[in-house]
Amino acid sequence: NISVKNLTKVYGNTEYGVRALNNVSFEIPDKQFISVTGPSGSGKSTLLHLLGGIETPTSGTVFYGEEDIYTLDDKRLSEIRCKKIGFVFQFYNLIPELTAHENIILPLLIDKKKVDKDYLDEIVKTLGISDRLKHLPSQMSGGQQQRVAIARALINNPEVLLCDEPTGNLDTKSGTEVIELLKKAHEVFGKTVIIVTHDPKVADYTKRRIQISDGEIISDDFRH
Ligand code: ATP
Ligand code: MG
Repeated sequence: NISVKNLTKVYGNTEYGVRALNNVSFEIPDKQFISVTGPSGSGKSTLLHLLGGIETPTSGTVFYGEEDIYTLDDKRLSEIRCKKIGFVFQFYNLIPELTAHENIILPLLIDKKKVDKDYLDEIVKTLGISDRLKHLPSQMSGGQQQRVAIARALINNPEVLLCDEPTGNLDTKSGTEVIELLKKAHEVFGKTVIIVTHDPKVADYTKRRIQISDGEIISDDFRH
């Protein structure tokens, strides 16, 4: 599980800077499906970046299990980032010169790890991109590119998928499909999935719904 403890992020000077996140604490048990909604500028991306260890908090911290990720040395922090965390972004961030297949397995190549063919097959089948693996990103629709990005985020078999506006660049239909697939990643592969979005409709798909405003949690609902 992940624990967020008194997380504060001020960009720039502590006195006059922007307080993007103000003393936020909550628990994320394993295998939850969570949305974080809030208006533009409310601190959603900041929270996600801090959860993923890709930004440094002004104060407070994040625990993965027993490990306080902001007191770890660089080697262990990058291990946690590679093994436990997968990121999905609004603009897919695929490498244009590489095929879908090459994009998906890139994290393994960087890590000099072998491809688990069965797991790869299961991912691409679940995401419905088996017949797109030889295509370049430019030959795929936005929704297909986002599926490839989700496959890439899953390839290391992380515990958690952190998704920042994963439907922000998609039409309503492809957006809904992507959310359904993230739900599958949660249900089929047992991942904790956290979706950050300004679209309140996305929250209808998740069991737990956290709302933030001005850097603070204003509600945290759980539905069975
Ligand atoms: P959006 O829905 O527009 O993506 P958000 O909820 O993700 O917004 P954040 O990007 O977390 O909001 O930003 C929260 C606040 O912190 C905003 O006021 C923003 O201007 C500020 N901020 C974010 N990143 C930086 C930065 N690198 N330097 C300075 N200020 C920043
Ligand atoms: Mg954002």
